[in-house]
Amino acid sequence: LINVSGLCKEFRGGIRALNDINLSVNRGEVVVILGPSGSGKSTLIRCINGLEETTSGEIKVEGKSLAGNSERKWRNHRLEVGMVFQNYALFPHLNVIKNITLAPLRAGVLKKEEAVQEARRLLELVGLAAKENSPVASLSGGQQQRIAICRALAMKPKAILFDEPTSALDPEMVGEVLSVMRRLADEGVTMICVTHEMGFAKSAADRIVFMDKGEIVEEAPPQKFFSAPESDRSRRFLDLIS
Ligand code: ATP
Ligand code: MG
Repeated sequence: LINVSGLCKEFRGGIRALNDINLSVNRGEVVVILGPSGSGKSTLIRCINGLEETTSGEIKVEGKSLAGNSERKWRNHRLEVGMVFQNYALFPHLNVIKNITLAPLRAGVLKKEEAVQEARRLLELVGLAAKENSPVASLSGGQQQRIAICRALAMKPKAILFDEPTSALDPEMVGEVLSVMRRLADEGVTMICVTHEMGFAKSAADRIVFMDKGEIVEEAPPQKFFSAPESDRSRRFLDLIS
């Protein structure tokens, strides 16, 4: 579904955030990206989402290269590959249902009635059906993050990218967001997740991708990665977090 080949990203000032990244994600696969701070995890998923320009290399979705996309095509791409951020990035002045229906209505892919119906179905799925008319600012962090997930799902994306979706949350709210993510994983949603939640990584990932210094150092199924990592850098990382 998603193919990244030879991807490099250099920021101004010559910082090489990504160096020759090769990664393929199949339909229905859950890939968890692990790695120390500054290893390029966010930059990689931002490049895949088109939020960051790439320096060289290629990203393909369903075989189609994103290179040379027009602004309109990029917008389209960002709806097809949803993204959930650490800080939710919702519209605080709009209520829950408006936050979820905004994108499909703007893109003209659903009629008002259908968009509202779909939003209600998604709210049901994340356990927030009672909140549809609440202003987003009145919700807890965990609730807002579940709304952000609904908003991404409302466009029926081909894949969803998560960048540390639980790391800004109070500990007691982490579980409710992870359980929604686990449910999506079980339902076969294609996901790339940057997270420090090792429990989630172990139980929900089909594959762990370990990054360090802008490179993919190791890729393995979670059982293997956590019990018998191959590289020294992975081992050191696991020692530090355990
Ligand atoms: P963390 O776990 O702390 O979120 P990360 O793995 O997501 O880290 P990135 O945010 O992708 O790391 O950063 C990779 C490298 O690129 C770092 O050296 C960072 O300083 C640099 N970098 C990221 N964004 C920019 C930017 N907009 N301008 C310049 N350098 C940047
Ligand atoms: Mg990051």
